[in-house]
Amino acid sequence: MLSCRVVRRHLATAFLLLILAIPCTATAQTTQADWPPELTEIWEPEPAVVTPGAGNAPPSDAIVLFGSEDLSAWESARGGPAPWRVADGAFTVVPASGGIRTVQKFENVQLHIEFRTVSEIRGEGQGRSNSGVFFHEQYEVQVLDSYQNRTYSNGQAGSVYKQHAPLVNASKPPGSWQTYDIFFEAPAFSPDGRLIKPAFVTVVHNGVLIQNHVEVRGRTEYIGLPAYEAHGPGAIALQDHGNPVSFRNIWIREL
Ligand code: MG
Repeated sequence: MLSCRVVRRHLATAFLLLILAIPCTATAQTTQADWPPELTEIWEPEPAVVTPGAGNAPPSDAIVLFGSEDLSAWESARGGPAPWRVADGAFTVVPASGGIRTVQKFENVQLHIEFRTVSEIRGEGQGRSNSGVFFHEQYEVQVLDSYQNRTYSNGQAGSVYKQHAPLVNASKPPGSWQTYDIFFEAPAFSPDGRLIKPAFVTVVHNGVLIQNHVEVRGRTEYIGLPAYEAHGPGAIALQDHGNPVSFRNIWIREL
C-alpha cells in the first residue's frame, strides 16, 4: 500500500504538471498562494545519515588522521616516516626535523585539529609557538601563540598567512589545547592549467568564526604576492617552524 507521504508527493507532481499544461491565459489566474505546500518540497536526494561523535570524538564518516597513538597516516615532507614525537595521546614537532604531511591526498574537506602552544613563553611575534596547517601543502592557516603576543594581523593565529587576518583573536593562553575546525574548498583549474575557481576557506577557532569563506589568493608566500599554479588533490601538511607545538585529535571529512 502507498504511504501517505508518497501519495502527497505524487499529487504535488500531478498538480505541477497540470499548471504547466494549462494555457498561459488560464495560469495567469493561478497564483502561488493556490499551490499545495508539497510543490516546493524537495525529497531527493536524501542526505546520508552521519552519526555525530560523542564529546570530542569524530563523526561516523570521518577519516581519523591522528587518534591518540601513532603517526601512520603521516609521513615526513622530506620522505620516510613522520619523525615527530608521539606521547600521551598527542604528538609534538621535533624542531629541525622538517614538516609532516598526510599520506592520503584530499580536495574539499572539513578538518578538525587540536593544537597546544608551548606553555613556557619563549620568543615573541612569529617566534612563539609557530606552526601551520597547510592544504595541498601550500595554503597555510597559521598556528601561533597569539595570546597577548602582537604580530602583523595577517600573520597571527588563524590568519590565512599574509592574506587574511582573522576576524577576531580567539586564542587561549600558552599551554592550552585549542581547536581549529577548517572548511577548505580546493581551487579548480582548466586542463591547460588556468585558474577556474580560487580556493575558499572558513575557520572556526575554539568555537569562534574567524575566517568566513575568504578567497585564497594563491600559494602562501613569506615574501611577495601569492599566485596560483595548477595542481590536483594534495596532502594536508603541518609546519616545523622550530617550535615544539603539539597536536591531537585530528580528523577529516571529504566533502
Ligand atoms: Mg606558520
